[in-house]
Amino acid sequence: MNRYLVTGGAGFLGSHLCDRLVERGDDVLCVDNFFTGDKRNVAHLLGHSRFELMRHDVTFPLYVEVDRIFNLACPASPVHYQHDPVQSTKTSVHGAINMLGLAKRIKARILQASTSEVYGDPEIHPQTEDYWGRVNPIGMRSCYDEGKRCAETLFFDYHRQHRLEIKVVRIFNTYGPRMHPHDGRVVSNFIVQALQGQDITIYGDGLQTRSFCYVDDLIEAMLRMMDTDADFTGPMNIGNPGEFTMLALAEKVLALVGGRSKLIYEKLPADDPKQRQPDISLARKTIDWEPKVGLDDGLKETIAYFRKLLAA
Ligand code: NAD
Ligand code: UDP
Ligand code: UDP
Repeated sequence: MNRYLVTGGAGFLGSHLCDRLVERGDDVLCVDNFFTGDKRNVAHLLGHSRFELMRHDVTFPLYVEVDRIFNLACPASPVHYQHDPVQSTKTSVHGAINMLGLAKRIKARILQASTSEVYGDPEIHPQTEDYWGRVNPIGMRSCYDEGKRCAETLFFDYHRQHRLEIKVVRIFNTYGPRMHPHDGRVVSNFIVQALQGQDITIYGDGLQTRSFCYVDDLIEAMLRMMDTDADFTGPMNIGNPGEFTMLALAEKVLALVGGRSKLIYEKLPADDPKQRQPDISLARKTIDWEPKVGLDDGLKETIAYFRKLLAA
């Protein structure tokens, strides 16, 4: 049994990670300031003897004793990270400094939830880990993209300078139950719109692509990454290489939900990447992992979740 700290543990990905850790017999300290997370995501764990929930903002120092740290705290959807962009950068950068300082003091292994956004609007396709990215440093997405890039820098400098055991995963678009219903992300938007009989909002011409990974597959990869050899740092892409246009996604959601929603076209947000697909060769080789859940099956689970949530 290990003692794990999960920052951002009441969020979408963090709460699934807490579930898996508790289930397999580890001890979990979940830290969250509930900016985009929700206590209901971890409510079922509250009585558990191996689970503890702490309200705390990672931009402030944290003094606790654990063996390993998963650093997920950071709003992940454009509407949320653009709500208070300065705080978003602070969360990525000050949050990383504090969690790395903590890891250094207690000699804990630490994993950073980085993002495919470090590649920006990429010129190479699919994206491999050695690609340095094409990121606008002063745009609407920069607080997130550059914050996450700086966090990666800090992880590697703590590794080189202080010999910290670090792991960096670059997560590509992930979806599933417990996504925030109003986070503006494409999967949650389309499902909620279809379930409520509203028009489906396609931004731009809908021909931009994304690759969608189901949450269970992603959590499995994060757990395996944490257990890799001490000298393996990544960065490592994790995501599902299946690539879809937003139009194809809308059609799939409509076919699964039924109903009469129409597609309507809205303005494409600034700096919206045209295509994104992970090259997961490194994950295949290093952690013997590839996603198992296809888009149709994953969407069915997610639709069932939102159906229940909206009915409550
Ligand atoms: P989420 O918004 O559901 O979770 C983030 C959690 O962090 C929330 O519970 C939020 O309350 C918490 N948080 C935010 N600021 C905080 C702060 N200052 N102190 C403490 N807690 C704070 O998003 P998610 O999709 O679960 O993302 C989790 C992590 O994975 C994020 O770091 C995100 O950047 C990364 N990621 C997610 C995706 C994806 O597709 N879901 C893709 C790439 C990277
Ligand atoms: N820190 C923390 N918990 C700890 C140890 C450090 O939150 O248990 C924070 C502290 O605020 C510090 C930051 O991590 O500013 C970086 O720590 P480090 O030891 O690298 O640098 P320094 O203390 O010299 O600033
Ligand atoms: N998108 C869309 N309609 C929506 C929400 C998003 O067409 O209602 C598009 C968005 O412009 C982007 C893609 O879907 O091209 C994925 O957006 P999301 O915010 O989910 O993720 P990210 O852009 O961060 O990959």
